[in-house]
Amino acid sequence: MTKLIFATNNQHKVDEIQSAISNSIEVVSLKEAGIDIDIPEPHDTLEANASEKSGTIHQLTKMNCFSEDTGLEVEALNGEPGVKSARYAGEDKSFDKNIDKLLSKLGSNQNRKARFRTVISLILDHKEHLFEGICEGKILMAEKGEKGFGYDPVFMPEGSNKSFAEMSIDEKSKFSHRKKAVDKMTAFLKTRFYAT
Ligand code: IMP
Repeated sequence: MTKLIFATNNQHKVDEIQSAISNSIEVVSLKEAGIDIDIPEPHDTLEANASEKSGTIHQLTKMNCFSEDTGLEVEALNGEPGVKSARYAGEDKSFDKNIDKLLSKLGSNQNRKARFRTVISLILDHKEHLFEGICEGKILMAEKGEKGFGYDPVFMPEGSNKSFAEMSIDEKSKFSHRKKAVDKMTAFLKTRFYAT
């Protein structure tokens, strides 16, 4: 079985991506790979942060690996919170405080257009490949729903009348930015590993 180290300490993301990827690829978290490191995200683009994370793990292990970085980009806020989505309201990465800050900055602005963007950096045979997944949608005036995480209660994807926080994981995956990026990486891996 092909092993890919996923440069994250978030087991939830490992499970989510393992379920989206072929069974012939084993996704291994940093913890499972015996790597105890908190990789910084110092750059001002998702691409640079994703590259930094996969590059750091590749330097350490010389093994095939990947990382992902996600941001919420709000049109009326010139793309904010973007790459700073996790720490928008401070270093404690509070989902509630981030949502409060977002809703108060948008106020009654009628332009609620927003999108989630995920960038995956895969290092395969010492070469980097980037994959992007985008989910277009809008920011609600107030929180709706209890499920999910992060900005899910205030984000409604195009083509739905539910917020992400009102959806099951399966429903969310029909729209999800992360799932779209993973699907692109999986399609690429298929051509490399199971090309006939
Ligand atoms: P990360 O760098 O991929 O962990 O994502 C940065 C931040 O974006 C997270 O802390 C969440 O606040 C937010 N985020 C990422 N993906 C999602 C999602 O699918 N739904 C809601 N918020 C998300």
